[in-house]
Amino acid sequence: MSASPRLLLAAACWPATRLAEAARPGLRVLMYHRVARLEAYDQLTVTPERFEQQMRLLAGRRKVVGLVDGLRALRAGTLSGPAVAVTFDDGYLDNLVEAAPILQRHGIAATVFVTTRFCDQTAAHPRYAPGGPRLHLDWDEVSRLASLPGLEIGSHTLSHPYLPRLSDAQARQEIEASRQCIGERIGREVRALCYPSGDVGEREARMAREAGYEAAVSVSPGLNRTGFDPMLVRRTEVTQRDDERAFALKLDGAFDPLHRILHARRRRRFERERLAER
Ligand SMILES: [Zn+2]
Repeated sequence: MSASPRLLLAAACWPATRLAEAARPGLRVLMYHRVARLEAYDQLTVTPERFEQQMRLLAGRRKVVGLVDGLRALRAGTLSGPAVAVTFDDGYLDNLVEAAPILQRHGIAATVFVTTRFCDQTAAHPRYAPGGPRLHLDWDEVSRLASLPGLEIGSHTLSHPYLPRLSDAQARQEIEASRQCIGERIGREVRALCYPSGDVGEREARMAREAGYEAAVSVSPGLNRTGFDPMLVRRTEVTQRDDERAFALKLDGAFDPLHRILHARRRRRFERERLAER
């Protein structure tokens, strides 16, 4: 779908979603991946200029909280107003080089989810062609990121697998051992997990809880409200297309109806593939 029909639909949904957003407290969790300059559009990348623009607008319009602390406050009923948390998946080097200075300048907290083998530099996200510049943070850089005010490191598993396809033992290993490994590397407790590719079933949510995580994030769209499941935290994807107008609409939930339709379609496709494999 091109930018303008998306925007028109969001603008049409905006009066209703804005009212719903204001009616009850909630935490909107933004999902980013990369902040970098790329030659062609990439759904997972925003340029530093766009990111700066979005963070300036965010800091001016919303209370921004750390992911786990914000969810704790939501559960305790002490979260005031609509609040936002910022997350990054996959542990890209540009999170430290490009995103962190912008976050620090605007006083914005963020959680960066790292995959241990990417940090070991023995694997990389398959989306990007091998042989290019180094893609992922190494462990020293993860520690540097963890030492910045408001920055927290979460787990994105050992090898970034599609968890629902793994055996019980393998899935448990990915979820538990990554928490332990990252915790030892950074010398802090790892409180949050991000399911690779965002797809998660009851089994993965149970394993995340049993592994001791306080929160686990998915790609289910929408706002997290009182009574949310901490192992199935919803997130809102932000892209390069989100200029000031689109980003402001996104903060008010105006893209949620469209995202819910796209997400349901994606889940049905995954289910069909899983049934076909049996
Ligand atoms: Zn990922």
